[in-house]
Amino acid sequence: MLRTVMVAALASTASLAQAQDAVFELDAETREIAQSLGQTALASDLAYEITESLTTEVGPRLAGTPQEARAREWAVETLERLDFENVRVEPFELDLWTRGRSVYEEVAITAPYPQPLYAISLGGAGATPEGGLEAEVVFFDSYDSLLASDASADALEGKLVFVNDRMVASRTGEGYGWANRKRRDAWVMAEDRGASGLLIRSVGTSTNRFAHTGMMSFPEGRHPEIPALAVSGPDADQIQRLHEMGETIRINMRTYAGWRGQAMSGNVIAEIEGSEAPDEIVIIGAHLDSWDTATGALDDGAGVGIVTAAAKLIADSGHRPRRTIRVVLFGAEEVGLVGARAYANARMEDGTIPNHIIGSESDFGAREVWRMGSNVGEHALPEIAAIHRELQSLGVVPGDNEGGGGPDMIPLQYMGVPMVRLEQNGEDYFEFHHTPNDTFDKIVPEEMAQNVAAWTMMVWLLADSETDFRPQAQQNAASE
Ligand code: ZN
Ligand code: ZN
Repeated sequence: MLRTVMVAALASTASLAQAQDAVFELDAETREIAQSLGQTALASDLAYEITESLTTEVGPRLAGTPQEARAREWAVETLERLDFENVRVEPFELDLWTRGRSVYEEVAITAPYPQPLYAISLGGAGATPEGGLEAEVVFFDSYDSLLASDASADALEGKLVFVNDRMVASRTGEGYGWANRKRRDAWVMAEDRGASGLLIRSVGTSTNRFAHTGMMSFPEGRHPEIPALAVSGPDADQIQRLHEMGETIRINMRTYAGWRGQAMSGNVIAEIEGSEAPDEIVIIGAHLDSWDTATGALDDGAGVGIVTAAAKLIADSGHRPRRTIRVVLFGAEEVGLVGARAYANARMEDGTIPNHIIGSESDFGAREVWRMGSNVGEHALPEIAAIHRELQSLGVVPGDNEGGGGPDMIPLQYMGVPMVRLEQNGEDYFEFHHTPNDTFDKIVPEEMAQNVAAWTMMVWLLADSETDFRPQAQQNAASE
């Protein structure tokens, strides 16, 4: 059908910006279709409608719960109604963790100045003893200062450890990983040193009294016995002020969180079958689960809307790409990429990892796409640059060739699948992310449509390409 033509030498650089110099010209008709798809997407509110439907008709959908099961039913119905092919669910098991009774735990300062706090259990945390727990706070201004503190001391025995790092907002969201260390790892040190509980300043940048939840890490599968909670930013400020006044702070709390055995989750898969090379797969994903505290509009209802709409607009264009476009709506992302691992392991077992030509996920809200990056073999960079040029009119700049394709793509990337990514403006993502404030009203329809335009064009061009995007050494190894 449509052909792309290489007219200049291969790029010898790993930079997408520099690869613009080596010319790869897309076939004129392919480009024309891409541009027309982009225009259609800019005028479409399909992604917005899909996200509105998911967040309104399903709502919060914590992994392994009946709400997440309803999200899968919603997804199957939605994808079938949109005439996708091969719609199916691949179920898998997980360890279920839930918060227990209510979204907001009962937490209060009891001394020196009694007052309630807004706080929330971190994913994976234990509960307080029945009847609650009251203890003195040991204040650490950062996760590093907790790490540096004397591990042999018994100063934490029976105490509540408080860790106060602040996250810095940025367009790339790169402050998150650093600020997140206390959420993921601080509990181990607190528990091992006899602390009765852990409190952290909410990861995230909000100055509202919304606490930020998220999963902790579990080295060697060990689950915490102690309660572990995030305190809202303004309440963390309050604790910090009391600490700086030299006061002894006591906190009382009652929480019900815990691990509740095994439960089922699943990935929902749908396809637009390729016309010439149906076995070759361009995989685009988002995750269906969300935290339980909100309707998960930005994380990741928006991604579900964006990738589903992009594939649907291509299917409706009257031009079927060479390759198959596979939409995967992953289950149980929030609780440790459980769905992504299940998907990648199943493909390892059925031997179709090499069929995955390239992958990408949308999981960073719904603000505009501003940069396109990749992780492909160097020989393919001129083509990635050519695809990027088609997106330039949307305000997208070229990125590097070093990143990943999104959280649910990590297991596939480990198995050698090349990646592309459309980076969204994340400057206010962590105002809402993982808080009760992640709701549908935060999505701006025009910004979401720009996302769909970029995705539709990029996915069309990748799915209609003939290129093997894997590094050449990897291709040679596979053919030996
Ligand atoms: Zn997410
Ligand atoms: Zn998330």
